[in-house]
Amino acid sequence: ATHFSIQGLKAEIEGKEILKGINLEIKGGEIHAIMGPNGTGKSTLASALMGHPKYEVTDGNATLNGEDLLEMAVDERARAGLFLAMQYPSEITGVTNSDFLRSAINARREEGQEISLIRFIRQLEAKMKELDMNPEFAHRYLNEGFSGGEKKRNEILQMMMIEPSIVILDEIDSGLDIDALKIVANGVNAMRSDDRGFLIITHYQRLLNYIKPDFVHVMMQGRIVKSGGPELAERLEAEGYDWVKEELGIED
Ligand code: ADP
Ligand code: MG
Ligand code: MG
Repeated sequence: ATHFSIQGLKAEIEGKEILKGINLEIKGGEIHAIMGPNGTGKSTLASALMGHPKYEVTDGNATLNGEDLLEMAVDERARAGLFLAMQYPSEITGVTNSDFLRSAINARREEGQEISLIRFIRQLEAKMKELDMNPEFAHRYLNEGFSGGEKKRNEILQMMMIEPSIVILDEIDSGLDIDALKIVANGVNAMRSDDRGFLIITHYQRLLNYIKPDFVHVMMQGRIVKSGGPELAERLEAEGYDWVKEELGIED
């Protein structure tokens, strides 16, 4: 069974400590949401877990099914089953979407067990249809010239094709109109399964109307300061973050 565990994680950027001890457990079948004001370290958490070189982990640990993620290179983390849909996906010239996806899928398979081209194309066409994506996007260079919303949809396409065990979505809702938001949410909901866990990072509660989280965590100043159920997200939407600060005696 999938079990993702983060303990006492601290990370810094250019010598400045951003994450000040994050603790989080995600099991297969669970959807966790992290909400928080801008600049509190939500994207830093996602990037540090994925192994982005700009972020230096200075303390704590992160394991996926008992394996130490922090010891692994970025591609090894992906192979171990970790997936991150980035807040600002990068454009990669010279690599088509389709080539990228096929190598990402095959990287998670044993040698000799690579996905056949026919099977790959069939799956790709089906998933793109589910996401209401124009088939021509398969042959475009990765994210190059994609609009904000197209990039977000493409991140979800990657998730659907790669079938990771732990999915981290960083502000997947930003830049999406309501129709695109529903399509993206349907894609995520279709991927819910007992052996897959989700961490959904969002600034707004809106997304959580379409993807129902089991647990909601509030992040402030590099820490998870409060955890609860979906009702916590609703209260944050209605009242903002000030009451949390007051309750916990957090100063700006
Ligand atoms: P959030 O995703 O919650 O909005 P971030 O993790 O993006 O927050 O940023 C947390 C803090 O780290 C902010 O103060 C931000 O300015 C700083 N930060 C993020 N990325 C960098 C970077 N590449 N270089 C320097 N500072 C950064
Ligand atoms: Mg931000
Ligand atoms: Mg962010």
